[in-house]
Amino acid sequence: MIYTNFREIDKAGRIVISKDIRKHLNINPGDYLHIEANDECITIKKAENKCVFCNSVDNLILFEGKHICKTCLDKLKS
Ligand SMILES: [Zn+2]
Repeated sequence: MIYTNFREIDKAGRIVISKDIRKHLNINPGDYLHIEANDECITIKKAENKCVFCNSVDNLILFEGKHICKTCLDKLKS
C-alpha cells in the first residue's frame, strides 16, 4: 500500500506525518527517524538501529550484536 500526503512545512522546518502512515509503520512518539536527502528528494525511514546508550542513530558500530555510536564508544575508551 502506498500512502501519499501533501503537507506544508512550518517556519521551524517541521512537517506532520499523517496518523495513517505512523500507524502503518508503527511510528510512535519518541521513535527516531533516519532522514536522508539527495538533490531531488528526502527519504524518511524509521530508524531501527540506535545506540544502546544514547539512542543516537549516527555513526553506529555493531559490537556483540548491539549498536554503539562513535561518541559513546569514545567515552567508553577514555
Ligand atoms: Zn551513543
